[in-house]
Amino acid sequence: MDEQSTKTEGSQDLPEYKDLSLPELFEMFPDDQAAMGWLERNVWPDGRKCPRCGYRYACTTKHPSMPYYCSECDKRFSVKIGTIMEHSRIGYQNWAIAICLIATCPKGISSVQLGRDLKISQSSAWFLLRRLREGWRTLAGPGLMAGPIRAD
Ligand SMILES: [Zn+2]
Repeated sequence: MDEQSTKTEGSQDLPEYKDLSLPELFEMFPDDQAAMGWLERNVWPDGRKCPRCGYRYACTTKHPSMPYYCSECDKRFSVKIGTIMEHSRIGYQNWAIAICLIATCPKGISSVQLGRDLKISQSSAWFLLRRLREGWRTLAGPGLMAGPIRAD
């Protein structure tokens, strides 16, 4: 709705992006697969485990959105389960990039701007920002909180 008021801002008016430009973020997370790997390393720093029971020996499956299977729970899971990403249809790439943007610029991103950056609707961007403000630290991992982002 406030699309009009932000029209005057150029894309160069983003002082907090000095360390991580949007193209750099897209290079870092070229697709959902790359972003998923990064999120998994942050959410499970000491290795993959079932978000329901903590079982560490889940096997991989070919399921497109639930790539792991816990034989203890007899359920599939992904890195989204049990995090602020659960129940969202937003892709891993968008989550990862939004996390990095929030980390470098926690108060300065509007949903209009984020929607434009990620090429998603403003309402999706608003949802994403709201979730991230509640709990991005659970996804960002120690590397991002402590300083420069490590790609791997
Ligand atoms: Zn389990």
